[in-house]
Amino acid sequence: MPRAVTPETWGRSTVRTACPLDCPDSCTLDVTVEKGRVVKIDGGATNPVTRNYICAKVRRFGERLYGEDRLLYPAIRQGPKGQGVFTRVTWDEALDQIARRMAAIRDTTGAEAILPFCYGGSNGLLSQDTNDARLFRAIGASRLARTVCAAPTGAANQALYGKMPGATYADYVHARLIVLWGVNPSASGIHLVPYVREAQKAGATLVVIDPRSTALARQADLHLAPRPGTDLPIALALHRFLFEGGYADERFLDAHTRGVAGLRARASEWTIERAAETAGIDPVDLTRFAQLYSGTSPALIRCGWGLERNRNGGSAAAAVLALPAVAGKFGVRGGGFSMSNSGALGIKAAAWMNDTPEPATRLVNMNLLGRALLEFRDPPVEMLFVYNCNPLATMPDQNRVLEGLKREDLFTVVYEQVFTDTARYADVLLPATTFLENYDIAKAYGPISLQLVRPVVEPFGEARPNAEVFSELASRLDLGEAELETDTLFRIAGRLPPHVSSELLETGSVTPPFDGAPVQFVDVFPLTPDRKVDLFPEALDEGAPAGLYGFQPDPGTDRFPLALISPASEKTITSTLGELRQRAAVLQMNPADAAARGLASDDPVRVFNDLGEVQCPVALNKDIRPGTVSLPKGLWRKSTYNGSTSNALVPDTLTDLGGGACFNDARVQVALLGRH
Ligand code: SF4
Repeated sequence: MPRAVTPETWGRSTVRTACPLDCPDSCTLDVTVEKGRVVKIDGGATNPVTRNYICAKVRRFGERLYGEDRLLYPAIRQGPKGQGVFTRVTWDEALDQIARRMAAIRDTTGAEAILPFCYGGSNGLLSQDTNDARLFRAIGASRLARTVCAAPTGAANQALYGKMPGATYADYVHARLIVLWGVNPSASGIHLVPYVREAQKAGATLVVIDPRSTALARQADLHLAPRPGTDLPIALALHRFLFEGGYADERFLDAHTRGVAGLRARASEWTIERAAETAGIDPVDLTRFAQLYSGTSPALIRCGWGLERNRNGGSAAAAVLALPAVAGKFGVRGGGFSMSNSGALGIKAAAWMNDTPEPATRLVNMNLLGRALLEFRDPPVEMLFVYNCNPLATMPDQNRVLEGLKREDLFTVVYEQVFTDTARYADVLLPATTFLENYDIAKAYGPISLQLVRPVVEPFGEARPNAEVFSELASRLDLGEAELETDTLFRIAGRLPPHVSSELLETGSVTPPFDGAPVQFVDVFPLTPDRKVDLFPEALDEGAPAGLYGFQPDPGTDRFPLALISPASEKTITSTLGELRQRAAVLQMNPADAAARGLASDDPVRVFNDLGEVQCPVALNKDIRPGTVSLPKGLWRKSTYNGSTSNALVPDTLTDLGGGACFNDARVQVALLGRH
């Protein structure tokens, strides 16, 4: 039935698009536009997984679009770095200046002195690894290892399963046991929550493993709250329980795996008691978990990214992912594991980038940005080109990153939507479009989906899309031709399988294989060379400092005994939308830890270690385990009293596998501000 026309709705139109931000769900969106302005962002009803609701974060995206922090024009720095004073220039002036500087660096120091720096701020397929990569490859810039998230879990999944697609949200209702391990879908990936609740209503048992008592943990049948960094012993104790108790599925192991002896040997050291003591949990609870997992089918583990962000993160992910193989949980709907499904459609940037091969130039791990800026020689970093990313807010060892950005001899370009912490240190600022103003292709990594992102309004101010700006720069350097973003869109779509491309461009979304819900070991199998699960990949064993499944002890000391974690929040998507956060961030602390330090709720505190100090209020919260404190992920510097965030306390050490960031290895002390 057509909707009634009222004075409130007349003159409005609704545009169907999709959310490409760095979130597993990739919602279909209905965006209401009036007189060329976005007035409402809501969920699109046609998506069977995200249905017709979205998170509160993106509902507010209009405040970013039209907010006072929005970058509207190209600008160049005036005065000292970091003062934040810029003068408006034309796009031609800005691009000429950048191109001249790139050419000069290439012709003097060498192009490896140029470091492109990007991550998932605009996570669509057009905004990254297209014309940007062509430019930086063609000029021979340093390459960036984008390892800040999902590198350890990705390395483990690749080595064990060849990144076999995982169970998707719809199949959770078929599980009898659900394990949410190091993941809080109430904060990120919200569309999983109703499926978990539906499964619980149907009688499924829920186990949550998280140092905090999250909303889902409070509703779980069993909540394990381990000390951060100890998921590995817990998983290995489960393996030992399965092997020693005769619960391992020997038939499945014989037919579908290799390397089981190596896993079994490493797990043999971890009794329930030893693992429980190491993790600081009750051995009775760990035994119950082992019994539940061995005795319930279908059993589904959601392996999150919380468990990877520490020195043992890669081995922990491998051990968790190995559990369904050892326990025989595959081959049934609602069983197995789910992690990232980003590879499930088999669509990789290599399909459209193979005409510009990647050069063998210097590879820089993004988690070492501070060191790269301050310590790298031969050549030093002379140009930092930041886009889709706010590294001053998101990278480890924030104070070192800050020192690097202050270098007077560093030429920094920041191509951004809003005036971020990093943008303040730019030499040249370029205004970027948001996903409501440009085309893109959104690929989910929770559900399996591919959707067209359509511009719903004209770019605000003089913002331009990535595809156009990078091709324009390439053209100025005689390294390629300038393209409209629609040219790039059609070129990339032309490299997708024909049925995918036509469906995407004609209907805006692609029908996923297996109705979007493949069953592991029925519909999909390991993408390893022999289609078997490799439970002890040699390359991982050689690469990990303590060997694969080797535990590295807690980095805490008497001076800095508290484990600081920085989990995803309901307010930002990593640091995206951090500009909208008005109130000071609050350190969450268990009342017992606070009492030991003479602290009361709302006290201003110093959170500190040898790397830095964060000043903020404290909240007493029994939902966080003793010995662990928490600050939100992705904070901007204005969110604390002294302009430092949790990343100022995070070492730039790397995870055992994949070169990931060890955000949860920060060990700190907390004291009343003013008391030393
Ligand atoms: S951030 Fe996630 S939940 Fe929010 S609109 Fe985007 S895809 Fe949906």
